[in-house]
Amino acid sequence: MAHAVNVHPLVSPWGRFGLYSFFIDAPEPAIVDTGIASSPTAGMAPALEAIGRRIEDVRWILLTHGHIDHVGGAHALWELTGRRAQVVIHEADAPMLRSRRAHVEEYLAGRGRYLGDPEGEAKVTATAHAVIAGEMEPTLRVKGGETLSLGGDVTVSVHSIPGHTLGSVAYVVDGQGAVFTGDAVQAHGAANGFPGYTDPVAYRTSLEYLRDEIRPRHLYLGHPYRRADGTPYGVELDAAQAQEAIAQSLAAEGRVGAAACGCLQTGLAETDSPYSPFARVAEELGYTGDPTLEPSPFFTSMHGYREHLDQNA
Ligand SMILES: [Zn+2]
Repeated sequence: MAHAVNVHPLVSPWGRFGLYSFFIDAPEPAIVDTGIASSPTAGMAPALEAIGRRIEDVRWILLTHGHIDHVGGAHALWELTGRRAQVVIHEADAPMLRSRRAHVEEYLAGRGRYLGDPEGEAKVTATAHAVIAGEMEPTLRVKGGETLSLGGDVTVSVHSIPGHTLGSVAYVVDGQGAVFTGDAVQAHGAANGFPGYTDPVAYRTSLEYLRDEIRPRHLYLGHPYRRADGTPYGVELDAAQAQEAIAQSLAAEGRVGAAACGCLQTGLAETDSPYSPFARVAEELGYTGDPTLEPSPFFTSMHGYREHLDQNA
């Protein structure tokens, strides 16, 4: 029986968002997710120093998915380790580590189609340059099913949990049920008050897999996601809280999906509403958040339902 390794949350604020990264205190230390370009120097290094650890000793950079607020600090952190850390990401999200432009392409292919902002491409391009420390090739591209050795008897297994993005993964510290899911368990969303996923069917299947197969004893989320009553989950969830967060995520997807599919089947209507052409969905759900605020989970998810229905038409 391996003895348990400690997990230390590392919190970086970014505008309206709280970005969570995690230090796994293994013989070969790991950091899960990297915040934005400034996070490693401004947030992680002093936080590690305070617990008697050094950022240059980190040997694994484990990325749950390719979004800017998770990979933005990867290159800066890798540099701080003397380029000795292994940088791990799912192959489907690797383009977002490799290229700032991939983030702009994702915007244009999805939520950007609805936002109607003539400056949208320029804004996302500027954000990608400001927030992503550098473009880089991962040292290890995974698909799910791999086991990584963090030295001694500490291993981390990689599980594919697509939906939020195609290349979302969970990292599990084997034997102690510590599970890192990034943005794959969103409950009712974070700062935007709406859950975002590019593939709603995969999102649901991955939640069921986490609930039934992974069954976290400790669950670590990427942001302070909120319950139905608006209160945020903490940075570390115990087994009961983890099951509750997964159940809330499934319930939220169920409500959003029912409204979205009803709207899509009736036919999309362009209106003056900021939620257009999905104004009926916002009305039915009572969603009053600003749908244009990046990363615009409302339109990301609506586009996901639309593509799913198109593929099955
Ligand atoms: Zn994300």
